[in-house]
Amino acid sequence: MPPSMSTTETHPTQTAIRGDKDTFLSEDNPFEAMMSRFDRAADLLHLDAGLYSVLRHPEKQVIVSVPVQRDNGNVEVFTGYRVLYSTVRGPGKGGIRFAPNVTLDEVKALAAWMTWKCAVVNIPFGGSKGGVICDPDTFSNAELERLTRRYTSAIMETLGPDSDVPAPDINTNERVMAWIMDTYSMHKRHTVTAVVTGKPIEMGGSLGRREATGRGSTIAVREALRRREIPIHGARVAIQGFGNVGSIAAKHLEREGCSIIAVSDVSGALYDKRGLDVEDLLAWVRNHRFLSGYPKAEAVTEHELLTAECEVLVPAAVENVITSKNAADIRAKIICEGANGPTTANADRILDEKDIYVVPDILANAGGVTVSYFEWVQDRGGYFWDLETVNQRLESIMVRSFDEVATMAERHNVNLRTAAYMLSIERVAAVHRLRGLYA
Ligand code: NAD
Repeated sequence: MPPSMSTTETHPTQTAIRGDKDTFLSEDNPFEAMMSRFDRAADLLHLDAGLYSVLRHPEKQVIVSVPVQRDNGNVEVFTGYRVLYSTVRGPGKGGIRFAPNVTLDEVKALAAWMTWKCAVVNIPFGGSKGGVICDPDTFSNAELERLTRRYTSAIMETLGPDSDVPAPDINTNERVMAWIMDTYSMHKRHTVTAVVTGKPIEMGGSLGRREATGRGSTIAVREALRRREIPIHGARVAIQGFGNVGSIAAKHLEREGCSIIAVSDVSGALYDKRGLDVEDLLAWVRNHRFLSGYPKAEAVTEHELLTAECEVLVPAAVENVITSKNAADIRAKIICEGANGPTTANADRILDEKDIYVVPDILANAGGVTVSYFEWVQDRGGYFWDLETVNQRLESIMVRSFDEVATMAERHNVNLRTAAYMLSIERVAAVHRLRGLYA
């Protein structure tokens, strides 16, 4: 075992500076966004050089070609990825996305984020992520099934309840998880429900999974407001994104007494300073698919939504929306990151200067993976919990994790994001030290 992996070393003297930093310069490169936060936390923790190197490299990166026969008989080949960033604390856990702009850097960053996220909420998973470069809008249902099954069989060696457990992400859903579970089970010659989470309830999914991320983000907003001594009743909230995370957060925050003054989706943004009626918006989207055209609110720009005067801003759509270009204009007192990576590292500094309290993604949206963990536990135990049990356990993990991150932040005089990274890196590093380096 080299000295840097010693199981007894608690305060190593040598910290490492990333040698290849110049390779990742763009503000919106997701791997850079992850790595610059990681670097800061690793420095504050005086992480020794050996562990630093281990933790900044993904354990395994799989690139596969996925041939699919289209309905017209033509065969097209798509590129797919699966990255296992770390499995030191348990099986890799992370979603699969189907999108035209998937890149290996993005999948690596997302797999790393999953590693830190699972460690922040202290569930026994590592981090992984997958993706296929494709435009699923151009696929029929049958083509999507063929793509999913062929991709699953291509990454079969990494998958398994004890090694790597996917979940839905952008453009994948319960239906896709059911195909993955079936393909894996056919290869194993028996039904393996715990190989994916986010499945339909009928085949081993968990009650409460669909609402879990929005519910968890609501708990994070409540805890942040409490710490900033802002009453939740009447707190004005702007939410970017009105899909799974954004719309459910809107519903729960409204129930808690907040006033949802702005929401947006890919079609545009809506504003009403007296507060929008979330149930009415949900009904509109059910009938019209998008928010645009909703007649009972003012249409505003995305910039106006992000910079609206409010207590809480919840970015719950896509990456890189709060950047060095707009951070100075943000007027919210709290930002609760429902999406993964909505804020760039350059924007962090500006938000800090403005004393905006940012609840980072790896804490704020960890409700989803927490209930995925519950699903995996229930599948393996073959014993299913009622909704109240799921929600109570989610609540207690979110509140405890928020407390632990806030305590870390106070102890080291850092913001919540740096504290969350420090807490999670410390937890992953501790297991590395205990396990030692297999030579
Ligand atoms: P979704 O597809 O259900 O919803 C995304 C929403 O964002 C849609 O309303 C879409 O119209 C909107 N949107 C897309 N581009 C936009 C833009 N440029 N401006 C404004 N709105 C835009 O996705 P989701 O599951 O709600 O995920 C949202 C984010 O939360 C993603 O970053 C995802 O990785 C993250 N997340 C999701 C979960 C989960 O359990 N669903 C868990 C953790 C993190």
